[in-house]
Amino acid sequence: MAKFAINLKEGNIEKESELIVGIDLGTTNSLVAYMKEGQAVAVKDQAGKSTLVPSIVHFTADQSVIVGDEAREKLVTDPANTIYSVKRLMGKSYKDIKQVEQYFGYQIIDEDTDSLVKIRVKDKFFTPIELSAEILKTLKRRIETELGETISKAVITVPAYFNDAQRQATRDAGKLAGLDVLRIVNEPTAASLAYGIGLHADDNEVVAVYDLGGGTFDISILQIHNGIFEVLSTHGDTFLGGDDFDRAIVDFWLQEQATGQISSSQSLRLLAEQAKKHLSQHESYENRLEGITFAITRAQFEALVQPLVDRTLASCRRALADAKLKQEQIDKVILVGGATRVPLVKKAVSEFLAARFSTSSTPTKLALGAAIQADILAGNQKDLLLLDITPLSLGIETMGGLMDVIIPRNTKVPAKVGRRYTTSIDGQRNLKVAVYQGERDLVEHNRKLGEFILKGIPPMPAGLPKIEIHFIINADGILQVKAQELRSNVEQSIDVQPQYGISEEEMGRMLLESIQHAQEDMARRALLEARNEANNIILSADKFVQQHAAILSPEEIEITQKLNLALRDAVAGTDKDLINKTMEDLNAYTSPLAHRAMDTAISDAIKGISLQGMDK
Ligand code: ADP
Ligand code: MG
Repeated sequence: MAKFAINLKEGNIEKESELIVGIDLGTTNSLVAYMKEGQAVAVKDQAGKSTLVPSIVHFTADQSVIVGDEAREKLVTDPANTIYSVKRLMGKSYKDIKQVEQYFGYQIIDEDTDSLVKIRVKDKFFTPIELSAEILKTLKRRIETELGETISKAVITVPAYFNDAQRQATRDAGKLAGLDVLRIVNEPTAASLAYGIGLHADDNEVVAVYDLGGGTFDISILQIHNGIFEVLSTHGDTFLGGDDFDRAIVDFWLQEQATGQISSSQSLRLLAEQAKKHLSQHESYENRLEGITFAITRAQFEALVQPLVDRTLASCRRALADAKLKQEQIDKVILVGGATRVPLVKKAVSEFLAARFSTSSTPTKLALGAAIQADILAGNQKDLLLLDITPLSLGIETMGGLMDVIIPRNTKVPAKVGRRYTTSIDGQRNLKVAVYQGERDLVEHNRKLGEFILKGIPPMPAGLPKIEIHFIINADGILQVKAQELRSNVEQSIDVQPQYGISEEEMGRMLLESIQHAQEDMARRALLEARNEANNIILSADKFVQQHAAILSPEEIEITQKLNLALRDAVAGTDKDLINKTMEDLNAYTSPLAHRAMDTAISDAIKGISLQGMDK
């Protein structure tokens, strides 16, 4: 059954495809695949050369966006405006990535360590969700060009270790790119599906998925039974991958060859990557760059990367131990990721796991598995029964009327999810919990299911109470929402029936609207979040000046207050970039002052200790 849709921009009627595509949104490379005559196939670029889209987003001087191979070239010439590895930032706060910040060649903003990171490109601020959406848009365009129809549904893969926030960020990126994300599927699950493992109800196997990409490594052990993919254990190293192989070659060349004259370290790195790839097929490599000869043999290369490969095996050992399995109990091994093309890697893994590879000579494409998962969702795989799922997302209202999704749509029921919240005002005694259903960013556009008030929170400074909210949905689809303050144990709950009184048409309409309004919703969310963050900072700057007036000069107090006032003005407006920039200015000015206050506090504390000592 074909459906027709109106293209709002151009006003023509287009054939809307029922096809659900599979997407691998990778750290280094991304790709899109679909089912063609019962086979999963990945879509190539227009030249028909490669299925990979480098996960790189470049902003040109006039702020237009370039994604993929062309953006990759800008890594050398314009690194500050070229964003790579954005997947590492999905769902992360600045606190999460502080230790590894120097890894990124672009500017990451650190005004409030607890809120989600933003990336600054010139005078604009972007979330990792928006940047990932650019990559997804490119993939969407690629498949639409190939098939000549509009695509609006997708399944996207994520690492098994991705938490709730990272998965939600991936869904949001899809929505922003105009894709209804029907399912987020674990990468090792997609790898198994790509081999047809788990497609038959009586399959019963233990599979190890070894994934060595550009910058990350993970190993997952899955138990596959009755169409259920259970992750028994997962281990890895988020800073180990093929890029480290390139760096090892660069270091080798810098030591072995006279390379003083090479003008750009980036071009030497690209040469190293070329050498590495060449050595996957040949015994030696030789090339010239700026008149200098660079050479390396496979044996030399293997000696360089052996320690890195050994580190991946150590992770495998831990994953086996966590799964309480011996090497021989692994039925199948699947290799994923470009760096598993290196013969030494293949050999090491096969020796270690002593298992039959399910892989051909090339690594598995996760997007193919995602396309097969999509086909199952579309009901085209007769062998598998579809489990009961929640048709719309369930969540609560947070500051400023934003929807915080707790159980995403298409989650299997029964399900239980908990999340931690806190208060926003000093001494706050009550907390309203309002439960909503729907896909929009603002609760006012979603469907309210009920609300209650958690009363009797003991008075504490804002941010201190620990309030846990649980969503428990049973096999009959009844949702219980429970809130509990963990310090005092006060508790309150309600039961609601999300499916009661809503028709399928209405659900369809809600989904459609969430895609149509994704852009403006995201803008509203970004503004509200910037305002919330700024309001917190305004309050803490006020508090700071009051508490530490003694160690601040009159001039410092005046400037802090002036910057604080500018931030208040910005918050009153609707320009989120201005709010972010003003917030950054205030932070940049006050953070040395805060350090000084801290040092004073510490030296006071030390004095306190020594005085106590003298008392005895
Ligand atoms: P990710 O999962 O991080 O998005 P990929 O799975 O696409 O990344 O892997 C990218 C890595 O694979 C890069 O380091 C790249 O140099 C490496 N790679 C790609 N092809 C080969 C090859 N033929 N031999 C060795 N390494 C390769
Ligand atoms: Mg990958």
